[in-house]
Amino acid sequence: MAHAFVLSDDSILCRQMPDGWWPLQVQLSPDSNDLSEQAYQVGHVTLHESLAPNHWLSDDSTSNDADDTVDANMAHSFTAQATSAMTYDYAVAHNVTLPIIAESSSNTFVPYRKLMTHLPVALSDQISQAIQLLSWQADTQFCSRCASPTVHADQGERAMVCPVCRLRQYPRVQPCVITAITRPNPVTGEMQILLAHHHRHGQQNLPPMYGLIAGFVEVGESLEYAVVREVAEEVNISVTDIRYVSSQPWPFPSNLMLGFRASYDSGDIILQEDELAHADFFDFSNLPRIPPKGSIARDLIDQVAKEQNIDL
Ligand SMILES: [Zn+2]
Repeated sequence: MAHAFVLSDDSILCRQMPDGWWPLQVQLSPDSNDLSEQAYQVGHVTLHESLAPNHWLSDDSTSNDADDTVDANMAHSFTAQATSAMTYDYAVAHNVTLPIIAESSSNTFVPYRKLMTHLPVALSDQISQAIQLLSWQADTQFCSRCASPTVHADQGERAMVCPVCRLRQYPRVQPCVITAITRPNPVTGEMQILLAHHHRHGQQNLPPMYGLIAGFVEVGESLEYAVVREVAEEVNISVTDIRYVSSQPWPFPSNLMLGFRASYDSGDIILQEDELAHADFFDFSNLPRIPPKGSIARDLIDQVAKEQNIDL
């Protein structure tokens, strides 16, 4: 039994359920079931086996029919088996039966950004993987050295190979550090966190969104040095006691967010005005609008809040 997510750019075919949109797993017929072959066609990828926590595993007992159908109950029943993903164009070209898709129906394409805040992490990560692999396939159809058309590497390795010069192009992950910087309020002693408002996070009709300092790791840098450099560049302060917390894949386009904590050391905030509109240390009792749950920025902010016995 094989299932596939269907994607269109960074949107996923979903079904509306009582608790929100959930990705549909389109059931593939035995005819279209040869993943070993399909995995190496543009527009279709196999996904790593999910490390799904038990609470959302299905027993898969209802999916024994071989019909090329979409089971409504399956919107919620994700298996722990590796699944696959395909683009909408691929599904149409290969006659995969899709449910009726319309803005007004209960099935539609929903952007990943909207889904990731409520999906279980393992499922969210699997979709993130699908988005990145499909866009990598689309972007590596030609050798970047000699411009010859590429072919897929042998099974088992994700690489696009140039048959002329043998250059191998692998899916690329771009590491990006994001840091929660804290200090006690110099007057009251209350714990504070450094938050910054980016120009690009302006949204009409809403108060400005404040996030953490983040930036790409540069060639030749350690992660810790990237934290120090980014913080110095964006707000001109120095930090100490840098420690890694957790990570999150972020498929826009293929970033790996590496979350850190750090303590304020010295310096006055001076903004890098190209990027930031405002930044300051905020008391936890008086935070501005912060990123939604499900993002690593929010996880880091929540972690500090929890230590202060504050529930955000
Ligand atoms: Zn080449």
